Amino acid sequence: MKIPLSSPFVEEEDIQAVVDVLRTPNLSLGPKLKEFEEKFANYIGTKYAIALNSGTSALHLAIKSLNIQSGDEVIVSPFTFVASANCILFENATPVFVDIEENTFNIDTDKIEQAITNKTKAIIDVDIFGRPSNKEKIKSLAEKYNLKVIEDSAEAIGAKYNGKNVGTFFDAGIFAFYPNKQMTTGEGGMLVTNNENIYKLVRSYRNQGRDTEKWLEHERIGYNYRLSDINCALGISQLNKINKILEKREQVANEYNLQLKDTTEITLPFTSTDTNKVSWFVYVIQVQNRNQIMEKLKQKGIACAAYFNPLHLTKFYKNKFNFKEGDFPICEKIARTTLALPFHTNLSKDDITYVCNSIKEVIRE
Ligand SMILES: *Cc1c(COP(=O)(O)O)cnc(C)c1O
Repeated sequence: MKIPLSSPFVEEEDIQAVVDVLRTPNLSLGPKLKEFEEKFANYIGTKYAIALNSGTSALHLAIKSLNIQSGDEVIVSPFTFVASANCILFENATPVFVDIEENTFNIDTDKIEQAITNKTKAIIDVDIFGRPSNKEKIKSLAEKYNLKVIEDSAEAIGAKYNGKNVGTFFDAGIFAFYPNKQMTTGEGGMLVTNNENIYKLVRSYRNQGRDTEKWLEHERIGYNYRLSDINCALGISQLNKINKILEKREQVANEYNLQLKDTTEITLPFTSTDTNKVSWFVYVIQVQNRNQIMEKLKQKGIACAAYFNPLHLTKFYKNKFNFKEGDFPICEKIARTTLALPFHTNLSKDDITYVCNSIKEVIRE
């Protein structure tokens, strides 16, 4: 028995959509790019969407288009994927970590204010594991201190805060389409915004700093962060069934909850009483002796992962900024117990049962 941690949900129609593009001469900057962007903006509810070759590229261009640079500080959670903080360093600005909430694992908005200085320029607002952050509180802080906000909603497509899609609340939002994400383009990302200036800048940065139709005119430094029409065709096909994907993932999470709810050694994923909607990216439980349990599950053919290692304690950040254990105690405490179980759109009930029975067995050994 081998159960993977994640798996893309690719059906025959997705394969056909990709093959169809290969029969045309437009493999990049063609009609599928435009269609994907228009459909994505329409789905998420922003004026603009710009497709990019990764979520990391989207974060980088969000930082760059907001003119965040050397000397600026940007607030971010230490309990996230490394790109959420690396993007700040790409432009030589300084990441400032703020500890997280024990239940949602999102940044603790009550602790943001004490981290704000006269150098603070922005907040990177991550919706970790697909759970919306406290947008209202972040909005009031951003207004009070005149801060820009970038929503890193890479893990949260379709998650809703007060009925509105995450990624649409602030200056810019980003999404990501690596194969373990809810929907995939193989590799890919999207930046969404209602701001025309950001839209124009990001389109230019994506394509070598070109500003106009003139192919060899470069207005500014730029990159090749383009997403090919092959990837975009897969993206359109996946986006067409995003509601089905999100529903199926919710059913998988509900089945896990049902089978694990009576195992007192396990803390289930947080369910809030508010009206916000989670988009299930991963299924993460909390257990003591996490590392031993993880090893035993792996021996049974069950892939699992310790999401996340606190960013401030990873080698690069630790050495660069002299962080030490104890700097962000809630994050560290959570990170010692979290265990991501196999989770994907098409995970069968039999596989879920096998995983749950195995956990119950090894947890009591
Ligand atoms: C996946 C992810 C990204 C980056 O996405 P890539 O497409 O892999 O570059 C950024 N932030 C978070 C929180 C993510 O989970």
